[in-house]
Amino acid sequence: MPFQFFGTSGAVPSPGRDNTALGLYSKDEVVLVDCPGSPYQKILKAGLDPMRVSSLIVTHRHVDHVYGIPSLVHNMGLAGRRTTLHVYALADTMKILRGFMDLFPLEAKMPYRIELHDVPAKEGHEVLQTRGFTIRSTPVKHGAPNIGLRLEFDSPGERGTIVYSSDTSPCPSLLALARGADVLIHEATFLHSDAARAAADGHTTGYQAGEVAEQAGVKRLLLCHFSADLHGREDELRQEAMRSFGGPVEIPEELREYRI
Ligand SMILES: [Zn+2]
Ligand SMILES: [Zn+2]
Repeated sequence: MPFQFFGTSGAVPSPGRDNTALGLYSKDEVVLVDCPGSPYQKILKAGLDPMRVSSLIVTHRHVDHVYGIPSLVHNMGLAGRRTTLHVYALADTMKILRGFMDLFPLEAKMPYRIELHDVPAKEGHEVLQTRGFTIRSTPVKHGAPNIGLRLEFDSPGERGTIVYSSDTSPCPSLLALARGADVLIHEATFLHSDAARAAADGHTTGYQAGEVAEQAGVKRLLLCHFSADLHGREDELRQEAMRSFGGPVEIPEELREYRI
């Protein structure tokens, strides 16, 4: 089960890191998680076929997680997409997505359907199932209603679990979601010296991300959503997380293919 980071930055990007987003894929389809930047170009740069993108999950309404959606929808239409694109989000996030559709207006002009699916703010909700994997969501603790995701895949020769925190402060629901995962992708917006700011803004420090990984018993921790002033100093976050987590901690590269 490969996955890629289309971006790894917090809300402000830098020349080396774009806003955090993920591509998850099986043999048949690609699921996008969050949609900043130029998503269509990222899909191409990742070596994926944009027409294989079946679904987009939008974790929350903050600008750095949604602003590429009109561009993705428009590009797919101009490129001749005919198959339905499924979009999943909490009701709070859906208001923004419907606003995008009205603003441009995209839906009526596109040669394909966009189906919006409301995700309830409920622990362990099954968002979608593909032939290779199942994705469940759980509310996490952030400045806007938000969901963390747990992806369990079971295909010939490959089984495992990836959990993505999205933007959050450490919280019991995320800990439960992450329990026993092979890979925990966790935000680490700040260093622990900024713990007060992290708590106020609904974010996590490198040290706290390590604590979550340790308490949840995950095998491997990948950090993301780094504040721009830490770009070039990500190893400090990694070192912090290694103080609280006994397993391997990685700073991911954008558009590199990862496996469990
Ligand atoms: Zn964010
Ligand atoms: Zn956010």
